[in-house]
Amino acid sequence: MPSRTDLVEDLMRRFPHVPREAVLKEDLLRGGVAFDESALSENEDGEVKPKSYFIFSFDHRTLPELGAAALRRPPEEIVLTGGPYDLRRTVVSVRVNPSSPYRVAAGDDGALALYLDGARIADVGLPPMPDYYRHKLANGKSVMEVAPTIQWGYLVYLTVFRVCQYFGAKQECQYCDINHNWRQHKAAGRPYTGVKPVEEVLEALEIIDRYDTARTSTAYTLTGGAITSRVGGLDEADFYGRYAQAIEERFPGRWIGKVVAQALPKEAVRRFHDHGIRIYHPNYEVWDRRLFELYCPGKEQHVGRDEWHRRILDSAEVFGARNVIPNFVAGVEMAEPFGFGSVDEAIASTTEGLRFFMSHGITPRFTTWCPEPTTPLGKANPQGAPLEYHIRLLEAYRATMEEYGLSSPPGYGPAGPGRAVFSVSSFMDSLPADEAVRA
Ligand code: SF4
Repeated sequence: MPSRTDLVEDLMRRFPHVPREAVLKEDLLRGGVAFDESALSENEDGEVKPKSYFIFSFDHRTLPELGAAALRRPPEEIVLTGGPYDLRRTVVSVRVNPSSPYRVAAGDDGALALYLDGARIADVGLPPMPDYYRHKLANGKSVMEVAPTIQWGYLVYLTVFRVCQYFGAKQECQYCDINHNWRQHKAAGRPYTGVKPVEEVLEALEIIDRYDTARTSTAYTLTGGAITSRVGGLDEADFYGRYAQAIEERFPGRWIGKVVAQALPKEAVRRFHDHGIRIYHPNYEVWDRRLFELYCPGKEQHVGRDEWHRRILDSAEVFGARNVIPNFVAGVEMAEPFGFGSVDEAIASTTEGLRFFMSHGITPRFTTWCPEPTTPLGKANPQGAPLEYHIRLLEAYRATMEEYGLSSPPGYGPAGPGRAVFSVSSFMDSLPADEAVRA
């Protein structure tokens, strides 16, 4: 049976236009990585920035199954360089999987490295604890809990509503563990605020603004679960929008404001924009009609796929097509038992979706599916999607973008191998390096 190293090297050979860094990054994201105790953080008391669990668990095991990594958190991200593949700097979000063939551990020389099938393949750098994580809010909450940063500090990730009103098997998206992640953190006694008060968010941002003297943090994302009724008396547009309004009033133009929310009617989308949001992510999740209906039953019942897509196109009239960036979960197209049986079919379907949006000037983006074990799709597919799917998607994405004359979407930092910081997919590592960095 071919080893994981054989699989990776075979794909590097067959797809020479896809950066090698992206091949490894996709494999780490889809399958996770094990951590030696020497590579874990000291939580909020050490020199390494810990994993914040900013929205989903993004792990291959539940917290109680993570062993030492449940007590001493792994780092938020790792950065890979060098090794036999001569890797350029590659930032990878950490998804823990104790049985992965990838392992981060200290070598004989004491330096941290990434091992695949027991062989050292890259040097590993860990994110330093940012100064702003060393300060607490007046009520004792940590900045990491209220306003964690990811993407090597580029993005402040504000999950202000930690649960989703699509609840239970008949409504939750079949790959999503937002509600489970809430439960497991509460059960472990970790601080995990369900609805973050606006004042706490402002206070945490104040601390970030004060101590991020290099001004690495460039954008914020407001997000959380879908709101189908009301939270605190507000509908989805006003609930998320009021955070943006408060942030923009207090820190005008300090960060690029983004929101990940449902595809809402144009009138509600306009309220997001009025509140100061500049980039809108109405995620379409998976393109294929049958799979959308099966995987996103709540969204299908409440909105429906066709209306969802219509609303995405309509929102371009409010935000401008460049600033509408819907996400899809790359890999669920191939999840058993309903997904496509071949990589060819899955890529053809995904590309159809890319063409649909890109022909309207809208640039989707994707996160690499992490098959979390408490989700129906994760349970049935613990290995995730085939690595070849992820590599061919990078190729198809770039080709479709070029076909429609588009470039990397705004709000993601620099593009290009060795430069990208977007950590939950390698689409930015695989695009040509662009001139605009603070785009
Ligand atoms: S809408 Fe779906 S993907 Fe989004 S938080 Fe709810 S269950 Fe998760």
